[in-house]
Amino acid sequence: MPELPEVELHRRHLERWLVDHTVMSATVQPARLRPPASAGALGEALTGSRPGVPVRAGKHVAVPVSGPRPGALYVHLGMTGRWTRRRRGEAEPRFRVLSLTLSDGHVVDLTDARRFSCLGWLESGEAVDLGAALGLGPDLLTQVPFPAGLLGRLAGRRRGIKEVLMDQAVVAGLGNIHAAEALWRARIHPSLPARDLDLPGARALLRAIQATFRVVLDDDDGEGVAYVEEGAPNPFKVYGRAGRPCPRCHGPVARYSQGGRSTYLCPACQPAPTTTVTSQGRP
Ligand SMILES: [Zn+2]
Repeated sequence: MPELPEVELHRRHLERWLVDHTVMSATVQPARLRPPASAGALGEALTGSRPGVPVRAGKHVAVPVSGPRPGALYVHLGMTGRWTRRRRGEAEPRFRVLSLTLSDGHVVDLTDARRFSCLGWLESGEAVDLGAALGLGPDLLTQVPFPAGLLGRLAGRRRGIKEVLMDQAVVAGLGNIHAAEALWRARIHPSLPARDLDLPGARALLRAIQATFRVVLDDDDGEGVAYVEEGAPNPFKVYGRAGRPCPRCHGPVARYSQGGRSTYLCPACQPAPTTTVTSQGRP
């Protein structure tokens, strides 16, 4: 499933593929639409448009367009959405959700096998501060909070820190994979009540989040973006590695369920908090 760094790679590819070209035609077959957009109106608004530099907030992207109908294309990739590019005339990929035929002879496709992706239309002003328009917390790549600022956002929250970090209104961009990875790097147990994180812990966690993002961001081939769940090689330290040795202490990585999601940790490197809080916030 794409999280912040995978979405950021797609954003960078889109910037390279779209900017300075004109959309000659747009085919829209969305699985989900963000109101009030309709597929027909979206296709009409995109046809003849000139895309600008895409912006990202958390896992959301907006592609601002100028031309007959200024505004922005909104895209959330869901679980399996991905952007690819082909030359006009080459075979159409399966599971197309959106195709943009460009003036440079390429077609940029959004495909989505599981159809959880979402398209929409934003007015120009909404794309300028996408995070605010969507009610997101600070973006963990471009608006990284200071450690004290992170503690402020976690204050009073009794739920386990992993669940709180995945709440996009608290901080934007962490999903199940990168939250587990960052907590392992920072030696923090996923069930630690979020309000109990201390300043050194916040410092370590913020560093760890950047380190886990870099694993993906530094591995960009400029075209495709791989998702681990779909069979790509697993570059992560503990995610998806239950029973395998922890890369740090060589003890076995454990998996357990937290808030309905599988989480991975090293019980030796990430000792359980003295007060364990359940996903419902009860001791
Ligand atoms: Zn370990």
